[in-house]
Amino acid sequence: MCGIVGYIGPKSAAPLLVEGLKRLEYRGYDSAGLAVVTEDGIAISRAVGRVRALEDKLNKNTKIDGHLGIAHTRWATHGGPSELNAHPHTGTTSQGHTIAVVHNGIIENYMALRQYLTGKGHTFESETDTEVIAKLIAQLYDGDLEKAVQDALREVTGAYAIAVLCDAEPHTMVAARKGSPLIVGIADKAYVVASDASAIISHTTQVITLDDYQVVRLCAGHEDKQGNGGPWSVDFRTTTIDNETVSREVTELEFDLEQIELGEYKHFMLKEIMEQPQAIRNCLRGRIDHREGRVVLGGLDHIARELTRAKRFLFAAQGTAYHAGLIGEYLFEDLAKIPARCEYASEFRYRNPIIEEGTITVAVSQSGETADTLAALAEARERGAIGLGVVNSVGSTISRETDAGVYLHVGPEIGVASTKAFWDKWRS
Ligand code: GLU
Repeated sequence: MCGIVGYIGPKSAAPLLVEGLKRLEYRGYDSAGLAVVTEDGIAISRAVGRVRALEDKLNKNTKIDGHLGIAHTRWATHGGPSELNAHPHTGTTSQGHTIAVVHNGIIENYMALRQYLTGKGHTFESETDTEVIAKLIAQLYDGDLEKAVQDALREVTGAYAIAVLCDAEPHTMVAARKGSPLIVGIADKAYVVASDASAIISHTTQVITLDDYQVVRLCAGHEDKQGNGGPWSVDFRTTTIDNETVSREVTELEFDLEQIELGEYKHFMLKEIMEQPQAIRNCLRGRIDHREGRVVLGGLDHIARELTRAKRFLFAAQGTAYHAGLIGEYLFEDLAKIPARCEYASEFRYRNPIIEEGTITVAVSQSGETADTLAALAEARERGAIGLGVVNSVGSTISRETDAGVYLHVGPEIGVASTKAFWDKWRS
C-alpha cells in the first residue's frame, strides 16, 4: 500500500501534490502520477520511477493547472510497474464525463467486476485492480459523485483508501477508506487528503481521520458560480457507504514539520537514531511517579482490574514490533510473573487460536495501521480477549479499535528500518 495526496483549495494544486508525494517517498514506490481538474477537463500525468520524473514531466506541461487534484505513488500489486498501470485510473460515464481515481490497497473481487464492466462496454487499459473502481463509479454515476462512490464501494471487497474526481463537479473531491489509512487535513480554505500525516503537516495540524467504510465529500471553490473571484467557501461532510451521516471529530496532529525534515542529517535513519534519547524522554515524561515508585499509564486506568486478573498476555505484531514483543515476553514473565507469548500477527489470524478467559492481547505497531496486526486483534477480540494497543501514531486504527492502550509518543518514524522500537542502552 503506497501513498495518496489530494488537494482542494485556492492554490495551484499540482506543485502542492508533488510536494506531498515527496513527503511520502520514504515509503517506497515504483511509479507516480496525478490528476488535476483544469479548465479543459481532467489532465493526467504519470511516470515510472521517482516523483522527480513526474515533476520533470509536469514542468514541461504547464497546462496542468487547477485548484483540485489527486496524486499517488504506487507499489504495484496487480500488474507490473509501468506508466499504464500507474495511477490515477479513469472511467467514462454514460454522459461522457471523466472519473479519476487513486487507490491504495487491493480489490479482491476485481476479476468479477472487470468482467461485469467489460460487459457494460468499458474498455480496460491497465492490468490493475484499481481501474475497476474508476469504471464502476463511472458506470453508476448519475450526476452525484458522492452517491456514485458510495454505490460503487458497496460492491467492492478488499482494502482501499481512495480519492476521486469528476470533471462534471469541478469543486468536489470524494475520498473513502476501508482497511487502509486516510486522513483529511483542514487547512485555511483548503483541504488536503493523504494516506499519511507527513503529507499534511506543512498545511495544517487539524485533521479528521476516516474510519472503515466512511466517505468524505470535500467542496471548495468560489462562492460566485461564474468564478469571478470572491471569497472561497469550504465545506465537508462524512457519511458511510450506506449514506448514513457520521460526525468526525477534528483532532490535532502531534508532530511538527521539523520532525519530518532531514535537517543536518544525511538520511532519516541516522536522524532517528540520534533522536533516541529524546524519544525515550518523551515516552516516559509524566509516566513515572518517583515518590510512589509507580509507573502511571493513564490509558490503562479503566481496565486496571482486568489487568490484575490477567492469566496470559499475547503480543501480536509484525517486523520490528514482533521483536519488541519477544522482549516483552521475557519482561512480562520476569516482572509480572504472568505467562506471555509473542506471535506473528500474520500467522495468528490464519490458524485457529485458543483464547482462554483472562487473555489480554496486545497489538504492537508503530503506525497503528499494520493490516495483519489489526486482523489479529479483531480475531482475538472476537474470541473474547481484551485488546490493548501499544502504538505510536495517535488516532490510528489500532488505537481506536482496542479496549485500552499506551501511546509511545516517540515522534514520527520516517526511516523504514525501525529505530524507536528498541533503545540503545549504551547511549546516554
Ligand atoms: N493494487 C493497486 C495497484 O496495483 C494499488 C497498489 C498500491 O497500494 O500502491 O495498482
